[in-house]
Amino acid sequence: MNIQPAPASQALFDRALAVTPGGVNSPVRAFQAVGGTPRFMVSGDGPYITDADGRTYVDLVGSWGPMILGHRRAEVIDAIQAAVARGTSFGTPGEGEVALGEEIVARIQPVEQVRLVSSGTEATMSAIRLARGFTGRTKVVKFIGCYHGHVDALLAAAGSGVATLALPDSSGVSASTTADTIVLPYNNLAAVEAAFAAHGDDIACIITEAAAANMGVVPPAPGFNKALHDIAHRHGALFISDEVMTGFRVSRAGWYGLEAATDATWAPDLLTFGKVMGGGLPAAAFGGRREIMQHLAPAGSVYQAGTLSGNPIATVAGVTTLRLLDDAVYARLNDTAAAVQKIVSDALAAEGVAHQVAVAGNLFSFFFTDAPVTQYAEAKAQEAFRFGAFFHEMLNQGVYLPPSAFEAWFVSNAHGDAELERIAAAVPAAAKAAAAASAP
Ligand SMILES: *Cc1c(COP(=O)(O)O)cnc(C)c1O
Repeated sequence: MNIQPAPASQALFDRALAVTPGGVNSPVRAFQAVGGTPRFMVSGDGPYITDADGRTYVDLVGSWGPMILGHRRAEVIDAIQAAVARGTSFGTPGEGEVALGEEIVARIQPVEQVRLVSSGTEATMSAIRLARGFTGRTKVVKFIGCYHGHVDALLAAAGSGVATLALPDSSGVSASTTADTIVLPYNNLAAVEAAFAAHGDDIACIITEAAAANMGVVPPAPGFNKALHDIAHRHGALFISDEVMTGFRVSRAGWYGLEAATDATWAPDLLTFGKVMGGGLPAAAFGGRREIMQHLAPAGSVYQAGTLSGNPIATVAGVTTLRLLDDAVYARLNDTAAAVQKIVSDALAAEGVAHQVAVAGNLFSFFFTDAPVTQYAEAKAQEAFRFGAFFHEMLNQGVYLPPSAFEAWFVSNAHGDAELERIAAAVPAAAKAAAAASAP
């Protein structure tokens, strides 16, 4: 594998390793699965990011989703700077959080009320607590390979970094905290029916990624989400759609919007959001029907709180970002995503590398396998050893991909023809490297 040295990043990484476990503050940033030194970024501009060694990359991670408008979009930066000048946090209600709540409610029809939090993890954790409080039940159904943040009860058979590092589960999560978590294969309705037949009266909710994108991208089979909703309701349980990644990314109204376009007769009871809605600052949310949300303190008895929830800087970044996300942006994101898929797929095919292009809206990833991927066991069966060689060849030529074969790729509104050309120029050598890679 052709791993280029990165001396300035290495020097920073050495300092980081001394003070931080593994040298990173979130495991997905590590290069453990691909080898080499994680690149320490110092600045971003539109579709580009620049590292400590002064190398500039086409960014296909976009801070794992939030930078949907590209880096340093002028309107967002100006709004943040104006907010900073007024003060950074008050610990009181403020207009920014009302505006962000209104923007979310206006975009997503089943969301009548929202509660703002600071991370997607808090959003899913709180949504589950609310579902349990609302139903008076304890059990939660989740799917293998779906990631809902590092909530103890949801770290069973999780995706994202847990999948990348091939961890069976997280240690430190006690059996008692996952005892009420029922873990099922994704896209398998028979397994869901069986779980409800056995435990239906105890199940508070089903939580699923609206479209799975933390085990690589694995879209729900047509009708899967609606069937989950129907099964849950038949048994008096709630259906929680985790849109932390897909929300405001795949359409104005996220994955819900794509599904509602063909069938608006049903909707999730609760939805969770994060990533895009903070515009690059920490902001996340959960929301749903008023009748359910009213169970939250101080209106109701389900406690949930946060010192920095609805922070004025984060909410202004989020509102400004969401207001810029119009239909033209989503059309462009779809076109750019399709173009990248074709460029990469053609290059892999030219080198005879078996692969699947996995797509959910404008989110996509590639699996190194001939077989279709509909659930985690199939994602895991890919020839992931090819990814490291592919990744480093792209990196060497100035294209920054997620450092894992199990993560989605993200495009932004700032990506255009020049970036597509740069990707197209880089990918033949990367495809060759993938073809030449051998199993460890
Ligand atoms: C990223 C993500 C989370 C966790 O969000 P954080 O802000 O990292 O805590 C939860 N669910 C999904 C689907 C995600 O992609």
